Amino acid sequence: MNITIIGTGFVGTVSAAVYASKGHSVIGLDIDPKKIKSLKKGQVPFYEPKLEQLLIKQQKAGRLTFTSSYKKAISSAELIIVAVGTPSKKSGAIDLTYVKKSCQDLAPYLKDKAIVAIKSTVPPGIFSTIKPIIKNKTDKTFYLAALPEFLKEGTAVNDTLHPDRIVIGADNKIVLETLGKFFKSYEAPIVKTTPESAQMIKYSANAYLATRITFINQIADLCEHNNANINDVIRGIGYDQRIGDHYWYPGLGYGGSCFPKDVKELGAFAKKVGEAKNLVRLINQLNEERIPRLLKKYETLVNGWEGKTVAILGLSFKPHTNDTREAPALKIIPTLLKKGAKVKTYDPKARWQPENKNQQYRQVPTIKQVVKNADIIMILIEWPEIIKFNFNQTKLNKKQYFLDTRNQFNSKKLIKAGYIYQGIGLPEKITN
Ligand code: NAD
Repeated sequence: MNITIIGTGFVGTVSAAVYASKGHSVIGLDIDPKKIKSLKKGQVPFYEPKLEQLLIKQQKAGRLTFTSSYKKAISSAELIIVAVGTPSKKSGAIDLTYVKKSCQDLAPYLKDKAIVAIKSTVPPGIFSTIKPIIKNKTDKTFYLAALPEFLKEGTAVNDTLHPDRIVIGADNKIVLETLGKFFKSYEAPIVKTTPESAQMIKYSANAYLATRITFINQIADLCEHNNANINDVIRGIGYDQRIGDHYWYPGLGYGGSCFPKDVKELGAFAKKVGEAKNLVRLINQLNEERIPRLLKKYETLVNGWEGKTVAILGLSFKPHTNDTREAPALKIIPTLLKKGAKVKTYDPKARWQPENKNQQYRQVPTIKQVVKNADIIMILIEWPEIIKFNFNQTKLNKKQYFLDTRNQFNSKKLIKAGYIYQGIGLPEKITN
């Protein structure tokens, strides 16, 4: 099949490489000339394990090319997949500018009977907006489909090659059949439904995962008041098959490019339709309050940030990606700098600098360098190299706090080495 993917970001590039690996002829299209230049050279402009190898292989096989030209990319495409960004507006509602613009720009070059599938996360009902945008600029027959994406950054290639499920939303039987055939070889359950249900599946999945993270944080907070241990609580509840032992992350709340914006959009929609008390709005509020609340607690524990050297470990929003969108570090560092701390950071892949070049901020290339002279060590992200590091070896002969926001370390060993250890949702006897 001739496929064009519009938007070669995390989702678009991974999908392009994987679909090409299935033998399709794929064109990746982006308006960012730097991205296209880099992809043409076989260089992925962000970090995603296994992607560059797969991309180069498909390019060499002649199945995958990249361009900035809509004319070149669209005119022979049977399937056009829109994977542009859908960020949040200040109000929390979704910003559909990129989706609308790409539909406007693809329309004049459409081949007859092409399928335009929207992979970007978009709210149910959006097709009534998109359809006329395309129709105004073409006489050709075209079909719309919803193709929500569920990949996870860090394991995106594997997730796309072996998805848990494929969701296809379309009002047209032939489109459902064509896309069903397209995804048959993935050996995953296929949910064929209406566009609205497909889009609601995506929002519900993210809202549920965000709720799970918020829920366990709430339980962790309570554990700190009744001497229970959140790690044991998780183990204990996990054996209940209705609950399960996976995806429990007590910590700083959820971040990343999807959960915050998708929960906000669902909340904005709930308010618009008179469901202001919908749970998702509370989840969003609790998540937004999470980091400021913990920072206040830590500030009291360390007796103020002023003049302290703080080592931050982990800048990305989770391990195995260099994506820093809505990452905890980006909320924490500006507060610490404002309060007079000296901040050093380490991340194996992500890079970040404050907008105003600040003398008090420095990113260093090794863990040894980041913890040197630190009064406070703050673990934000559980990169393997961070959680494997032996912090006992680098303990200094001075008072040092170890703030383990991911509950990844053996508290007893760290306390024995002399650190003042603080985890999340742990009993007092562990933190003393
Ligand atoms: P991204 O920001 O990494 O990439 C978007 C790309 O679209 C950029 O390269 C940008 O230059 C390009 N673009 C913008 N306007 C364009 C236009 N008019 N024509 C051509 N290209 C254009 O975004 P992403 O993380 O890949 O996410 C894309 C969509 O997929 C979003 O709706 C997101 O919510 C959804 N999604 C993302 C993930 C994820 O983990 N990143 C997972 C599931 C779903």
